[in-house]
Amino acid sequence: MNREEDKFFKIILIGDSAVGKSNLLSRFCHNKFTLQFNSTIGVEFTTKTLNIDGNPIMAQIWDTSGHTKARAITDAYYRGASAALLVYDVTRHMTFVNTQKWLEDLRNHGDNPNMVVMLVGNKSDARRESVMVSTEVGRSFAEKESVYFMETSALRASNVEKAFSDVVEILHKNKV
Ligand code: GDP
Ligand code: MG
Repeated sequence: MNREEDKFFKIILIGDSAVGKSNLLSRFCHNKFTLQFNSTIGVEFTTKTLNIDGNPIMAQIWDTSGHTKARAITDAYYRGASAALLVYDVTRHMTFVNTQKWLEDLRNHGDNPNMVVMLVGNKSDARRESVMVSTEVGRSFAEKESVYFMETSALRASNVEKAFSDVVEILHKNKV
C-alpha cells in the first residue's frame, strides 16, 4: 500500500470560461508549476499535498488556460484523471445549463469509468435575485447525475478547501 502511485491523484477543472476555475485553483494551492503543452492549448497543473487521515496524498490539479475553448480540450487533458471538478457560475444560468455538455464530454473522453465528479457552483458570494441558479436546482441536478455537489466562493474562500479535500478524501477511500 506504499507505492507512490497510490498517493497521487490527477484532478481536472472543467466548465465554461470565466466561471472561476483558475481562481479556485489559485485560492486552494500555494506552490505552482506551469506547463505549456503548445501555443494553442495552454494547460497547467499545480500540485498540493493534503493530509488525509495521517496519509500525505498528492493532488495534481489541472486547469486550462483562459483562451481555451471547450471544444479544443484534448483527450490528453482527461487522460488519467481520477476526478473532475465541474464548475459553473451561480450568477450565469447558461454556465449551469452547459454542465450537461461538460458531463457528456467527460463521459465520452474520460478513460476512467470510476471518475469522481463534483459539480461546483462557484461565486456563491455574488448570487443576485433575478439571475441565479439556486442551491436546490444545483443539488438536484447533481443527484440526478450521481455526482457530488458543492457551492463555493473563490473570492470569499468559502468551501474551496472543502471541495478539493472532499474529492481527495473520496479518492483515497475508494482506493483503500
Ligand atoms: P476561469 O475562466 O473559469 O478560469 O475563471 P477565472 O478564475 O479566470 O474567473 C473569472 C472571473 O470571475 C474573474 O473576474 C474572477 O475575479 C471572477 N471570480 C472567480 N471566482 C469568483 C467568486 O467566487 N466570486 C466572485 N464574485 N467572482 C469570482
Ligand atoms: Mg482560467
